[in-house]
Amino acid sequence: MKITVLTLFPEMYDGFLNSSIVSRIISNDLLEVKVVDIRDYALDKHRHVDDTPYGGGPGMLMKVDVLHRALLDNKQDDSYVLLTSPRQKPLQQEDLQRFSKMNDLIIVCGHYEGIDQRFETYIDERVSIGDYILTGGEMASLVLIDGIARLLEEGISSESLNEESYNDGLLEYPQYTRPPVYDGQSVPEVLQNGNHAEIRRYNLKMSLKETLKYRPELLENRNLTKEEEKLLQEIRCEEEI
Ligand code: SAH
Repeated sequence: MKITVLTLFPEMYDGFLNSSIVSRIISNDLLEVKVVDIRDYALDKHRHVDDTPYGGGPGMLMKVDVLHRALLDNKQDDSYVLLTSPRQKPLQQEDLQRFSKMNDLIIVCGHYEGIDQRFETYIDERVSIGDYILTGGEMASLVLIDGIARLLEEGISSESLNEESYNDGLLEYPQYTRPPVYDGQSVPEVLQNGNHAEIRRYNLKMSLKETLKYRPELLENRNLTKEEEKLLQEIRCEEEI
């Protein structure tokens, strides 16, 4: 898969793309990332990429002609074009799954006060990473690359992907590693006894407990299995004690 990022700040990407799991996925040829400097497509003498908004108002807007030239020069027939924007429902794991199946993705990063609205006729979809405003779309593009890259990684077994939070609509259960006791806090007994059926049931219960506490709305729309209903009942009883 190829991801092309159009940005005014290409220098923001080097450290990220050369580190950790993402760099491994790139060296394994599962992902190619191309970072394009939008300023290279500003043709006037001073290489202007932004201008003041019609009708007044604060800040500067990125110019439609510069953005469009940058896009056309990097677009293939099968490119899917994402525009980073706070004006969208926040990104979900299922969006990442959808994007990870594409062959060629282009991510456009806005900056300043945003972009000339007319550029939106050339994109396929807006992507927001949350209900807050950032200074630019670069962080959002890094979130996309990171979240998509790990779905492409064959090294991450499908078992580990399946157990991750959100994959099955519940938050992941808490996990522990050595030492068995730290600062008076013990690893739960059941995780140390090697009984896989008990461990599975315990972890499912802890997933439900986490979800009930931190994201209760995820449980409202869920078709609970008999076992999940029973575990939730247990959790509620224990909390009343
Ligand atoms: N004035 C705009 C915000 C501009 S922020 C508005 O209120 O809608 C500048 C740029 O940062 C945006 O064009 C977008 O590319 C990026 N950006 C800011 N917040 C973001 C978010 N939550 N998710 C994705 N991109 C964001």
